[in-house]
Order: sequence, then C-alpha cells, then structure tokens
Amino acid sequence: MSAKVYYGSLQHGTNQRFATFAAKVDKIVELLDFSTIEKHDKVAVKMHLGFQDVYQTVPVFFVRRIVKAIKQAGGWPFITDNPTAVYNAVDRGYTQETCGCPIIPISGVKDGYTVEKRVDYKNVDTLDMAGVLHDADVLVDVSHIKGHNSCGFGGAIKNIAVGGYAAQTRWNKIHGVEQYIPYWDPEKCSPKHAKELVLSCPYKQIKYNEEKHKLTIPFGMCNQCDECLEADKEVGCLEYRQEHFSAFQELLAIAAKQVLDTFNDDKKFFISFLLEITALCDCWGFAQPCIVNDLGVLGSRDIVAIETAALDLIAKEGLIVKNIPPHYIHANLDPNVDLHPFQRLHGRMKSPYLAVEFARDLGLGTQEYQLIEVLSPEETLKSEPPKGVSERDPSFY
Ligand code: SF4
Repeated sequence: MSAKVYYGSLQHGTNQRFATFAAKVDKIVELLDFSTIEKHDKVAVKMHLGFQDVYQTVPVFFVRRIVKAIKQAGGWPFITDNPTAVYNAVDRGYTQETCGCPIIPISGVKDGYTVEKRVDYKNVDTLDMAGVLHDADVLVDVSHIKGHNSCGFGGAIKNIAVGGYAAQTRWNKIHGVEQYIPYWDPEKCSPKHAKELVLSCPYKQIKYNEEKHKLTIPFGMCNQCDECLEADKEVGCLEYRQEHFSAFQELLAIAAKQVLDTFNDDKKFFISFLLEITALCDCWGFAQPCIVNDLGVLGSRDIVAIETAALDLIAKEGLIVKNIPPHYIHANLDPNVDLHPFQRLHGRMKSPYLAVEFARDLGLGTQEYQLIEVLSPEETLKSEPPKGVSERDPSFY
C-alpha cells in the first residue's frame, strides 16, 4: 500500500495569503491530522537547531505555527535537540517566546540522561538514546532537508537517528562504525608509502601515525575520488568498498527504528522543509550557498515515504551548478552518469537512498507514495479568496 505525502510548493497561483506558502504549511499540518494527539500528551518536536553561525535551519516562523497546532490538538509540545544546540538556540532565533513552547535538551543538561538500547551491529553493541525523546508520548519530526557528507543527505531519518542520541553515541559509535571494516593492510605498507598516500588525497583526509604505523581514512569526508587508490596501485595495501559507506547509513536506519519503536503508530508525524538546501549539514555551524532551489514542504505519517519523496523532488530539480563551492573539485556533473545530485557532490557510494532503503527493509515504512499537492498554483489560480477575511488586521493606523 502506498503512503500519503502532502506537498506544498513555494510557487503560488495568486498573490494572496490563502494561496501562499504559510497557508500550505498550515494545510499540511491540518491534513496530517493531529487529532490522534491526546490531551496532555507530551509532544517532542525534534528539530536540528543548528550550531554557531548557521541560519539555514527550519525558520522559527513555521515552528511557531506547528507548535500552535499541537496545542490546539490538546498536546503539550516542547522542542528538543542536543544540549549544546539548545543552550545557544537563542542565537538563531529559537526561544520559548518565539517558538511558543519550551526548548529542552534532549539528553539532559550534561548529555547524560539516556536510555541504553541494544543493537549489536558490527562493533556497536548499544546506543544511548536521549532520555527526553524516549519519555515523550508523541514525535513530530521537523527536518531541514540538506546534503550530508557521510550519507549524502540529512532529513527525517538523520534528525532522529543521530539527533536522538547522546554525543558519545553520535560521534564515536554512529559516525565511527565505518572504521570497523578493514581497508588498509599495515603489513604491505611501508612508512614511506603511507606518507605518499597521505599526500595523494586532495582533501587531506588520510592520516598516518608513524609511531603506531597506523593509517586512517575518515570515510565521512571521502568522496571516492580514487586518487589514493591510484597512488597505491603498485603496492595494493588500500581498498575501500561500498560497505565502508553503507555501514553508517544502515546504522542510521537501525537507530531511527529504535526511536520510532518508542512511539505508537498514530503518534508519529514527519514534516520536512526543502528550503535553503545546502551541501552539508546544519551541524557544521556556518552558512553555505544553496545548491538546490527551494522546493517547499512535505508532510507525512510515513518516514520512508517522506524521505523518498524529498530525494525524488531534489533529483528532479537538480543542482544549481554555479552555487557549488569550488572545494568540491571532484563533483561529478556528467549528465550521462546516473547519480542523485547529492551523490554528485559527496561521491557515488553515498547514495542518499541507502538509509531510506535500510529503513524500509526494517519495516519503518514504504517507498511507494502518493504525492498530494496542496493549494497547487493551478488550483489557486482559479480560486476565489475566502470572503470576509481581512488581509490586513490588526491595524495600528
Ligand atoms: S578516495 Fe579521494 S577523498 Fe577519499 S581518501 Fe582517497 S584520495 Fe581522499
């Protein structure tokens, strides 16, 4: 069975409020039907509140409207993210006053309020799920859609799969899982050759500790340009495979499932904003050029469907080539090569669909979806504005 994904584009058919983007966000929230939120349910609005100098997160303007709708349904909403992002959220405009509800650190003020979840995936035995998220009755997963250097794409899955866990789990276990699969043979590699490999990487990603004779590649930053393999072809001590890049995405799906399993089926909502789509995640903490045009907003009760729809819309739109930062020196822009726009930037082995497919296989949802456009330009072009609604109240004249 296909899932419903509601879509509101930025384009409008007539330049009146009822037809424009904020009205579409409200309409999608209405269609998602918060009536399954029970009175006094504690509703976690999981967001990525960004860090430092990034402003390209979900605008507080929309957060406030979503929060209002949750309150109208009888729920008690709170916004939540990692403790650091919460502590300085005010720098990016998020406060209780602006959002309309408290902002609570997802794992306590010292990142230590967690619930251990057993996963036994490769070298990862357990994950420390954020306790505040675990305590909530309802999840509203509000995501900013953007690229991501480790998995190609950051959306609804990553928002809870990385953002729903304490820092040690996020950085050491989830991001670290790629290192579990061997890729370098120390017996075959001399210190001299290791240093040559270090120099071969145009992104300066290969690290070598001569004292320990240990070479490491953080695959999160590797875009599979193959220059190190070329430098190694006479020696053959280095190899990387799809598995090195898929492991992170598979663990994302596993971590997302652990979070979603703590909520009843009728208490999970997903809203994704395809605005200010940048190449890297909000956690980098700086503004970036937008590499895909603004596409609008999606809403669904199915996390796999909404992620698939977001990726499909981006694939159809393509990259804004002139906005690609010059350090993406190996961006593959060949139109004859079938790659998703995020793969063109982050590498062929970082298909953004991987985590979504793993999530589907874990039973989190379906990739078959029905895209239902709300207040489409074609529809509102022919519509009459609602009667008796003032466009200008209140007036301070
Ligand atoms: S494939 Fe390219 S980016 Fe990745 S480690 Fe090798 S040289 Fe560096």
